[in-house]
Amino acid sequence: MKNSLIVQKYGGTSVGTLDRIEHVADRISKIRKTGADIVVVVSAMAGETDKLLKMARSLAKNPARREVDLLLSSGERISAALLTIALQARGIPALSLTGRQIGLETDSTHTRARIKSIDCRRARKMLNENHVIVVAGFQGINPEGDVTTLGRGGSDTSAVALAVALGAKQCEIYTDVDGVYTSDPRMVPQARRLDVVSYDEMLEMASLGAKVLQIRCVEFAHKYKMPLIVKSSFKEGDKGTLICEEDPNMEQPVVSGIMCDKNQAKITLKEVPDQPGIAANIFEPLAAASISVDMIIQNVSEQGHTDMSFTLAREELDEAMVIMNKVAKKIHATHVSADAKIAKISIVGAGMRSHSGVAAEIFKTLSANKINILMISTSEIKVSCIIEQKNSKLAVNALHDAFKMADKPVKKKTARKVKAV
Ligand code: ASP
Ligand code: MG
Repeated sequence: MKNSLIVQKYGGTSVGTLDRIEHVADRISKIRKTGADIVVVVSAMAGETDKLLKMARSLAKNPARREVDLLLSSGERISAALLTIALQARGIPALSLTGRQIGLETDSTHTRARIKSIDCRRARKMLNENHVIVVAGFQGINPEGDVTTLGRGGSDTSAVALAVALGAKQCEIYTDVDGVYTSDPRMVPQARRLDVVSYDEMLEMASLGAKVLQIRCVEFAHKYKMPLIVKSSFKEGDKGTLICEEDPNMEQPVVSGIMCDKNQAKITLKEVPDQPGIAANIFEPLAAASISVDMIIQNVSEQGHTDMSFTLAREELDEAMVIMNKVAKKIHATHVSADAKIAKISIVGAGMRSHSGVAAEIFKTLSANKINILMISTSEIKVSCIIEQKNSKLAVNALHDAFKMADKPVKKKTARKVKAV
């Protein structure tokens, strides 16, 4: 390819109406004037995927995943074709391609397939022939030749995979927010847009519920060191947030993000006999029911008995309680209780690797606000606390203040280079 290559992805709201599709087409025609090669990946128009899923589920409680994939992939085809028509109407040679046509091969796990390879020959040829390529995101083809989809939000991953396969320098993700924030601005009025976030931090934030990017997209970008830029398609000249490798020359803020997950629940088993095999007895049946457990706490044992608590996603609480009531009988626990009025507050920051005292500062701040901590867990770049849900807004705002997250980190002065003689 002779020209520089730009890979852009537009999310569902950015192509949500015909007017917005026209707006995206105008943006692309401006970039086109710079002479760059352009590959555009689109999501389905906002609400379309949900609408199609609802239709399928109104016909059958558990529609076959293979059919769901074919159905859902049509959403992205509609927006790809409409955007291409809008581009052609502006005199731009553009062509739309489905997952199959772009050569995106996946495994056979319908509705959450993983990308195996992309055969870019056709795309390269089309770019050489000066076409803008508009790709239907979120979809691929499995070895049997059936249509697969990449899991909800999967167009992000399509875009990164294409950027990697085509050798783009970066991948631009256009969405309805103007970047990644220190915290949810609806909850924390002081929340600030981050200029830069590392892959590790973004991965933690995405798995803690930041909806801005699909987790797999961040994993993919990290693996192939593809810089991502998240920006709003509605603002011109916006910088957005850059997601990339940590830069050792940049001053790292100690913490980058505070997340609050209110979709958590806690189960406690009281007075469980403290014997080998008890944890296996509790968690094996949950794993068999595909219920993921998050934090686990086992109390110090007293007179041969202990209490065991764990958290899980709230929507799985009822199913888990049925299982736990059976388990409790089997292992002679005296009591099982559930608490759905909890929240998980998590502080994420790559700076924690080199700064001590972050956890202590969190506990001090929560205590100064008279917030009780029910559970704690830590990892290299994250501290999470379970608290009562009614305190979540207070906790998140207090921590945001305590870590001065509204202030931009100051850039490290780069040492003047001394030439060796
Ligand atoms: N349309 C799909 C969804 O709503 C994929 C995407 O938007 O990235 O999940
Ligand atoms: Mg999305």
